[in-house]
Amino acid sequence: MIKNLKPCEMCGKHDSLTDTLVEGSVLSVCRKCTKFGTLIKKTDIIYLKKPKKEIKLEEVKEFITPEYSKLIKDARERLKLNQEDLGKMISERESIIRQLEQGHMKPTFSLAKKLEQYLKIRLIESNEPKEKLKDVRIDFSNAAMTIGDLLKMRKK
Ligand SMILES: [Zn+2]
Repeated sequence: MIKNLKPCEMCGKHDSLTDTLVEGSVLSVCRKCTKFGTLIKKTDIIYLKKPKKEIKLEEVKEFITPEYSKLIKDARERLKLNQEDLGKMISERESIIRQLEQGHMKPTFSLAKKLEQYLKIRLIESNEPKEKLKDVRIDFSNAAMTIGDLLKMRKK
């Protein structure tokens, strides 16, 4: 009797299934179909799945600091400029400056960059991790990656 209730993910046959790496994804396939992929051990599957999260961690997101209105106003006053002067400097209307300083309008990234440059302040922050992750990351879009590479990487 075959204990496995799930059919082979490649041919649909009911047989004892083995986890196999086929074109970058892990499939449960029957003995006959394992020849299409690379046989992998359970530990390798865990390793294959793990780096996905780490890639997400590495995504750098930029955002406008919530303190933007105070920062802009303080910097402008420090430079002894009025709202109109600052508007002229960065070629924006005075009303835009006023709205920014009142916190009624969040600057766009391009506007924030201009303000950063002229006012010597930092408005754009990022969640960039301070320390680079030491673990080897795998590019899953790279179909040329073989289980052999994987095992080599893990030994490092
Ligand atoms: Zn099969």
